[in-house]
Amino acid sequence: MSMTQVATHRPQKLAVDREAGLLRIQWVDGHASDFRLAWLRAVCPCATCAEAKRTADADPLRLAVGPGPSAAVTGAELVGNYALRIIWADGHDGGIYGFSGLRASCPCAECGGIEPDHLRAE
Ligand SMILES: [Zn+2]
Ligand SMILES: [Zn+2]
Repeated sequence: MSMTQVATHRPQKLAVDREAGLLRIQWVDGHASDFRLAWLRAVCPCATCAEAKRTADADPLRLAVGPGPSAAVTGAELVGNYALRIIWADGHDGGIYGFSGLRASCPCAECGGIEPDHLRAE
């Protein structure tokens, strides 16, 4: 990865819009990304959630029962200058969302208009 790419994957502004249920990132190159909090929770990259997803994928007939995990955010903090940790209302805080991965997963129309089913590799 070139230095130029790394530079564009840095956020200039970061905001959690609880009312809209969005994490809004404005990148240093001017691009803007809106990530749904529910999507962020669904693609949580922590070991526990990754394992739960593997188990569910291995058993496609298993029905999801009950409400999904909380998509309400109580806080967020920077991890170095390369990632964001999100603290969810149910106390879950193991997911470290790398900025490169977030940028690669941007769901805006310009970037393809789809939410990937997992946080993309940087
Ligand atoms: Zn997790
Ligand atoms: Zn985009």
